[in-house]
Formats: sequence, C-alpha cells, structure tokens
Amino acid sequence: MIDKIGIKLTTVFSLLMFFTISPVSSKERLVNSPESYKEALTNSKPGDSIILKNGIWNDFEILFKANGSKAKPITLTAQKKGKVILTGQSNLRIAGKHLIVSGLVFKNGFTPSSEVIAFRRNKVDLAYHSRVTEVVIDNYSNPDRFESDYWVGMYGQYNRFDHNHLVGKRNKGVTLAVRLNSNNSQNNHHKIDHNYFGPRPVFGSNGGETLRIGTSHYSMTDSHTTVSDNFFDRCNGEVEIISVKSGKNQIKNNTFYESRGTLTLRHGNGNLIEGNVFFGNGVDHTGGVRIINRDQTVKNNYFEGLTGYRFGSGFTIMNGVPDSPINRYHQVVNAKVENNTFVDVDHIHLAAGSDQERSAVPKNSSFKNNLFFNNNGQSPFSVFDDISGIKFRDNISNQLKESKINTGINAQKVTLKRAGNGLLYPDDKELRFFGASVNLRPTSKNETGTTWYEKEEPEVEFGSGQTISVSASGDELINAVVSAKPGDVLILDDGQFDLRKIVKLNKTISIKSKNRQKSTISFDRSTLFEIADGGSLQLDGLVINGANSPDSSGNTLARTSKWGMTKNYRFEVKNSLIENLVINHSFHFFDSGSRAFASYILIENNRFKNITGDLFRLDKESDDLGIYNAEYVTLKNNEFINVEGSLVNLYRGGSDESTFGPHLYFQGNKVVNASLGKRNKSKASIWLHGVQVTNVKKNMFDDSQIIKVEHTVGEPVTNITDNQFKNTEFPGVVELRVRGPHTANLKNNKKL
Ligand code: CA
Repeated sequence: MIDKIGIKLTTVFSLLMFFTISPVSSKERLVNSPESYKEALTNSKPGDSIILKNGIWNDFEILFKANGSKAKPITLTAQKKGKVILTGQSNLRIAGKHLIVSGLVFKNGFTPSSEVIAFRRNKVDLAYHSRVTEVVIDNYSNPDRFESDYWVGMYGQYNRFDHNHLVGKRNKGVTLAVRLNSNNSQNNHHKIDHNYFGPRPVFGSNGGETLRIGTSHYSMTDSHTTVSDNFFDRCNGEVEIISVKSGKNQIKNNTFYESRGTLTLRHGNGNLIEGNVFFGNGVDHTGGVRIINRDQTVKNNYFEGLTGYRFGSGFTIMNGVPDSPINRYHQVVNAKVENNTFVDVDHIHLAAGSDQERSAVPKNSSFKNNLFFNNNGQSPFSVFDDISGIKFRDNISNQLKESKINTGINAQKVTLKRAGNGLLYPDDKELRFFGASVNLRPTSKNETGTTWYEKEEPEVEFGSGQTISVSASGDELINAVVSAKPGDVLILDDGQFDLRKIVKLNKTISIKSKNRQKSTISFDRSTLFEIADGGSLQLDGLVINGANSPDSSGNTLARTSKWGMTKNYRFEVKNSLIENLVINHSFHFFDSGSRAFASYILIENNRFKNITGDLFRLDKESDDLGIYNAEYVTLKNNEFINVEGSLVNLYRGGSDESTFGPHLYFQGNKVVNASLGKRNKSKASIWLHGVQVTNVKKNMFDDSQIIKVEHTVGEPVTNITDNQFKNTEFPGVVELRVRGPHTANLKNNKKL
C-alpha cells in the first residue's frame, strides 16, 4: 500500500518536474578528446551532462570545474559505465558545486599529481555538494612504492563518495583521505558510503591506511563525516585500517572482512562507531576498534574471530599522556561501550600502552550490555594500569577463565546460534538484550561498489591453473615458463635441465618434478630465477646445483628484481635438494632487491648443502624508515649443511610502529656447520633486527654460528624454545631502544 502511494507520488512529481523544467532542456554532450571535453565544459549549464566516449583515454588530466544547482547538477559520465578507461598519467580534479561524476575506470597507470581524484582544483578552489559515484580505481599505483599519493582526497563540504570500487593500492599513502586543512573543509558533512574497499596488500611500512579522516594537526576540529555501509575486504596495508583524526564522525554499518589492523580513534572527540561488523576469521592480526580521546561511543557492533593483540587487539582502550601534545595520546574520558558482541576475540586490552609517558588512565567510561563469548574459554581481557575509571555493568559472558574483570560481567552458560544475518546470538531469547541487536544487518560485499566491475581475487593461487609436462631438451623449460598462464604448474620430466638464460617471472608459476628429486637443474647465468613484478614462484621436489654457474663471486640461485618492485611476491621451496652452490665465493641462495617485498617465503622439507654464500638476504632496507623485505619468513623441517654465510638476515630498521611484521618462524630444522665463513658479515646463523614476531623452536644447531636477535620498537614477541645447541653459542638477544633486560622468551634450550 505504501509502495503504491509512493509510486503515484513519484509519478506526479515527475510530471510536475517535466512541465516546469522542460522549456529549457538539459543538454548531453558526447566528447571524444580532451579538447572537445574542454569545449563542452565551457558550454555546460546546470542540468547538462558531458559524456566521455567509450575507449581508452591516455594521460587525460580532467579538470571538472563548474557550478550546477541542487535541482540541476552538472554531470560527467561515461558513454557506457565501465567502458571509459583512464590510463597512463590520468587523474581528475573536481571544483565548484553540485557536480556528479560517474562510470569512470582508472587503471594501467598512476597519477602524476598527489591525488587520482581530488575534490578540489587547488588549495582555495574546492568542491561542494558534489558526488563521485560508481568510479573504479584499480591498481593505479605509482611504480615507486615509496612515492606517496592519495587515490582520493576529499576537500570542501557536503560531498559524497559512494558505490565506488577501490582495489590494489600498492604505493605509500592513504587510499582515501578526508582533509580538514582549511576552514572550508572542516565541519564538512561528507558522506562515504557503499564503497568497495578491495584488498590492499601489506605495505610493509607506515602509510598504508585505507581511510583517514583529518590529521593530528586539525584533530580538535569537528569533521562530521559519515562513513557507512562500506565493505573493507582484506585492507591489510598497515596497523590502521581507518584512522580517525578529527571529531564528530560517524562510522556506521560497515563490514571489515579479514582486514589486518584496527579502526582507530587516533585523534578527535565525540565519534560514534555503530552497527559495524568485524569478521576476522582467525586471520593473523585482525583487529577491531581502538579508543583514544574523549566522548567516543561504540555501540551495537559485532566482533568475531579477531586474533590481534596489543594496539591491534579486537578492542583496545588506551592510556593517555597527561596534558598531551596534540600529536600524542589524549586521555580516554567518557567512552561508552554498549551492546557490542565479542565472539572469539582473543584480546581486549585496557589501559593499553601504559608507561612513564602514557600514565593518564581512562576516566568516566563504561561497558554496558555487552556480550563476551570465547569458545576456548579464555578471558580476552588484559589490564595494563588502573581501570577503576571504566565501569562494567550488566554485561554477560560465557564462563571464561582468568577474567581480570571481577564485577559487571555476569558469567553464565550461554549458547550461540547463527542467525539469518550471519551473526551469532544467544539461543536464549532473554539474553538477546546483551550484545548486538538482532536487527543489525551487515553490509555485504555485493551491496558495495558498482554492479558492472567484478570484485576479483587479488592473487592467483599456486596450482590453480593447468598442468604442463616439460622435458629436459633444449630451452623447453624456459619456453614453458614464457608461455605458461598464471597459476600453471610445470611438471619436469626426469633428467638434467641446463638453463642458458635467466628465468624471469612476472606471473604465478609452480615448477615441480614428476618424480621427487629426479629432475636436476643447473644454470649458466648469474642467477637461475628472477622474480619480477607480478611474479611468484613455487618449487617442489627439484635438485638444483651450481655446477654450470659462472666463475665469479655473488651468484644467486634466485633473486627479485634488483630495485623497485610494487607487487608483493610469494616464494615457496619444498622437498628439494639445493647443493653445491660453490663456484667462487658468496654464492647466495636468495637475494632480495631493495623495495621488494615478499608477502611470504616458505621453505619446507629441503636439504641445503655446500653453499658459499647466504641463504636469505632480506636486509636491503638500510635507510631505517621502518621498511623491510618480507612479512612472513618460514623455514620448517629443513637440513642446512655447510652453509658459509648466514641462513637468514632479516632487517627492519627505524622507529616507526605501523607494521605487524616482519615475522620469522624457524622450526624443526637441523643446522650443521653453518655461517662460519669469514665473509659472513652478520657473524650469525640467523640475524634478526627489528623483527616483530620470532619463533625459533625445536631446532638442532651443530657447529654453527650464534643466533642474533636485536629488538628495536613495538614490543616484539620473541620465543626461542626447545632447541639444542652443540658447539654453538646460546642465542644472543639485545634491546637497542628500551632499557633493562631483554624481553625474549628463551626456554628449554639445551647445550649438548
Ligand atoms: Ca599509520
């Protein structure tokens, strides 16, 4: 009934509009060149549209400056949505008012300016009441990963950014920044809604936030930005997914899917976090909300399967700095945390960051009507200071062990059931008063972005393509790599493969032996494999030796491009024998270039024997900017015998704390006569500097160099346990930045 009336009213309204507006009909101008675009813009009146002709527009820097009116905006769009591709050095600036942009795709290039889309022409000429909708920015990243830009810079007031699709930002800089850097950009009332924030790979340094509202400089200013109904899909750039640095923003009804990091209320007061859903699915470093400052409200949110800890926890309330400078930590006062559901959230940290500087504990704050449920029965709470300023009242939990909160959480038997909306609720209806509302409707992926641009998986999985047999004759292996499709698996016949060219990889490829260790590869050039942008390599069951390598120092078996990769790569070696890399000195197994970044390196069940150089050289970011070469390095169940150089050099310098990595897992390996060569610069079998997570477990070290661990920033977690050391010094751990004894856990290590 209501619908019918609705339709009738709309029809009547449309007819009225038709009769009143029709005398001056709006114009649509189809343009096919930057020149004809300019001419069309000059002639555009309120209500007009400029339509870009379908096709590739290369190096087109669009300035869309015009003034429409509320009833008659001026539109810039595509002849067909998705068919206008802006490539090369293209970008878009919008200035004026009542403007709409839609249907454009930015890909295959990057902006030469500091923003792909700017809601301004310059510092004074801003956009107001304007909208960008159904626009795509796909992997439009500066090829220099540390050259900073924003993909979207919002300035001015009352602008809307909705139903856009942003995916694959790989260079430094926030994906979408709301700037408050002039009066005309403050109290902006922008709306950012129904966008698809697609996967943003781990950046490996500060500057990988997906969304930032304000900066510390303007953090006492109100922004009034609403961020609602967006989908954040694996936004893994750095520790902050969203960084709120201004006041009176509303973050509502967004979904955070397997995104590493947190929604951080870093600066600014009076923000509202409501109706959001965080699905971590147990993925490493998935977090929720981190609270700093005054008057923050967090209600009716749903947190599930979050593994993050410390400042990356499922939920964190920070300690502040007394009389904090504007860029440090303001005390938490009057935080309201109500009706949230926390299921399988590993960590909730209260008064986090308490130290000599951050000594101002939370005040006048409360947890009310929340539900805490952990299947493992462990309480998620860690308390780092006096939390008498946080009142717990009328919360419930299942029976959790070792809870640090003694009152205000009623422990009882709770069973949960997944409802039609995908969220868990207490079976017992009486208990549904606690936790998130049954009416919460999570934003799904397909409600966000455009309908016409596919949300593709960001990476091609190893082994996802065809299987191709390769014989040992001639250049067959090299030719097979060249013609393979991403994800293909090359199966090597038994025999001897002598490669006379470097195998360059710019796609995901697996190379396996048909019969384990019956195919042997040797190579004539200074390296066998070079992983270039887009490349990822998996080796399985091979024998590789240095018998044919050139007689000069510094050969490698595998390396990345020497400089400037933008795409993260993966490297796996399993079940293989790597031997006799002994032609001349410093014959390394794997050498990273600088600005190359492995999302992971996995080395499992191999034997490495007789090598004159290092195995893993992941220490090229010597400029100490918090940059490093690999996120996860895992070596499991291998044998390392007679390796003159270091097994792993993993280096992250600088004082920045914006990354979760690097991580090193070294487990179940047998190490014999390792790292004692006179050219081993690190004088260590494993040298870790600034590594954030280290697990060295159940290894045997025989006649080998010491393990050296240097702790720098970020409360690194180091466990070195259950190892045996024969004729090998015990591991050395030093704290380079904090005073006092080292914080590593060295346990059950035996000297034989
Ligand atoms: Ca940051």
